[in-house]
Amino acid sequence: MHDILAPRALKTLQRRLLAWFCAHKRDLPWRASRDPYRIWVAEVMLQQTRITAVLPYYYRFLKQFPTVESLARAPQDKVLQLWSGLGYYSRARNLHRAAKEIVARHNGEFPRTIEAARALPGIGRYTAAAVLSIAYDEPLAVLDGNVARVLARLGAVRGDLRAPARWRQLGDLAQDLLAASAPGDWNQALMELGETICTPQIPRCAACPVSRACLARARNLTREIPAPRRKRAPVKMRIAAAILRDPRGRTILVRDPGAHDDVLFSRMWQFPAVEVARHAEAELAEHLHDILKIDAASLRLESLPSARHGVTFRNITLLPFLARVARLPKRPRTRVLPLSNLDRLPVSSATRKIAAATRI
Ligand code: SF4
Repeated sequence: MHDILAPRALKTLQRRLLAWFCAHKRDLPWRASRDPYRIWVAEVMLQQTRITAVLPYYYRFLKQFPTVESLARAPQDKVLQLWSGLGYYSRARNLHRAAKEIVARHNGEFPRTIEAARALPGIGRYTAAAVLSIAYDEPLAVLDGNVARVLARLGAVRGDLRAPARWRQLGDLAQDLLAASAPGDWNQALMELGETICTPQIPRCAACPVSRACLARARNLTREIPAPRRKRAPVKMRIAAAILRDPRGRTILVRDPGAHDDVLFSRMWQFPAVEVARHAEAELAEHLHDILKIDAASLRLESLPSARHGVTFRNITLLPFLARVARLPKRPRTRVLPLSNLDRLPVSSATRKIAAATRI
């Protein structure tokens, strides 16, 4: 597309989009500052997560960790606790590790070059370009799903946008179109356009500031671009979980006990749980014996209402079981706490759903 956009037309496109962004941008907390730390935290939280879901977490996180130094000093459990419910917990772990590196190796300042930024844990091309362009005015274009869709429609680029060659082509296009005088605003303007006007299903072309330059609109291709992505076939899973409860209303949580912790429980504190095939109760009792040395014969597992849980392509049925015990077992890598107060520890939303079954 940039081949057919004369320099003057490119300038007009940039001017119109930047003016639209200036007039219509949403008032978001990370836009109130050029502090790279605050922009970085926002960009990480916004990966695969909607703005409305991010906002309360963002406020809480920044209140607790207002600087990169305060984040670097924090224990990992505290960081995970504040992330708890936001999902994709490797983001929080990497953010924490990167904060430590920034303090240790960069004197507490977010790196100014893309190479140094990308060398930090969890920071890829997109996040590095977003932070450096917005905080430091570096002329680096971003490319995410929203930007790719806008660019593909502007240039009538057909096919699977995530195919490596096409993604590279869109990356080049993004860099060619970048308004070098205001790279941070330009990047945010494209993202904003993709989120609010040039939306996936039915773009609002009548309200679009760059519609005159849009080839997809001119050729009546807005419904066909981007091409739908092939989705991975869903996988069904059943996970049985044991809520052990002692007479004082306390329960026991475990950590890293099995193969499903990473996917479902994000390597955080969780109820003892196992994927089951046919006989959930018996398989769970066996698992409890394996990890907590609980005698299966002495255990009565009471079935609680099941819950649905989706993680990417997995459709999971959670099968909670309550076991009333006189005494909770004492084992390494376990925590005992009141069942009504699980938020004292970092837990995933799957663990919360399991706990909620006891309140029905
Ligand atoms: S004219 Fe329509 S399809 Fe083209 S960029 Fe604007 S909103 Fe998207």
